[in-house]
Amino acid sequence: MESQGPIYGQDEPDELDSQPHDPRVVVTKGSPWLIDRGRRERWSAPEFVTAHAVDVRQVGDPVLHAPGKKPRIDKKELEPLVQRMFASMVEARGIGIAAQQIGVPLRVVIIDVDDVGIVAVNPEVEFQSADVDEMSEGCLSVRGLYGMLERPLIARVSAVDITGKKFTFEGEGLGAQCMLHETDHTTGVLYVDRLRSRKDLFPVEPEEPGEPHHSVSGHTREEMERATSR
Ligand SMILES: [Zn+2]
Repeated sequence: MESQGPIYGQDEPDELDSQPHDPRVVVTKGSPWLIDRGRRERWSAPEFVTAHAVDVRQVGDPVLHAPGKKPRIDKKELEPLVQRMFASMVEARGIGIAAQQIGVPLRVVIIDVDDVGIVAVNPEVEFQSADVDEMSEGCLSVRGLYGMLERPLIARVSAVDITGKKFTFEGEGLGAQCMLHETDHTTGVLYVDRLRSRKDLFPVEPEEPGEPHHSVSGHTREEMERATSR
């Protein structure tokens, strides 16, 4: 997912931007295989990214617009796929990615809005709150644009991990948005399909060099840059 960051952050003082935040997504049942700190460090190394990143498919590519298939749960096959997804996401500065975005029509996603990344196979939305918030949202597969749309404030998703273990996770705000965005990808839906109107789609303005980034949200430049791509 490529997000401009949630609107709810905009009233917070700037100093908070660099403070550690509460996890946006928490595992509520089970204990999934995660992209923990060790994996993140290895998989974010420039050599690793160069070796594993592939081009992200763009809107219009049929693989993005059809439902993905349930993969056979085989860690030996899924781990290399997750590595390619993660490297491609890092290169594009995303905060989430689906296998379909790198051209693999399988239901596998990464949600990467916290220190630890969650890898979810066959994600299914179990619950979404009736309370919604209008948020800005972008996608690695829709370059140069972001949209404004309503998303539930809270979402719960169940899935299995790459070893076949069931788990459930819950997110709020940006966490819920990312979970729903990535789960949508597995069914062939992009955020642009959820816009009320084309008028809710905007070009991403190039950043002024050297200026701190304060646009749609109150997030830091780095966070915004990471956020501008799922
Ligand atoms: Zn996306």
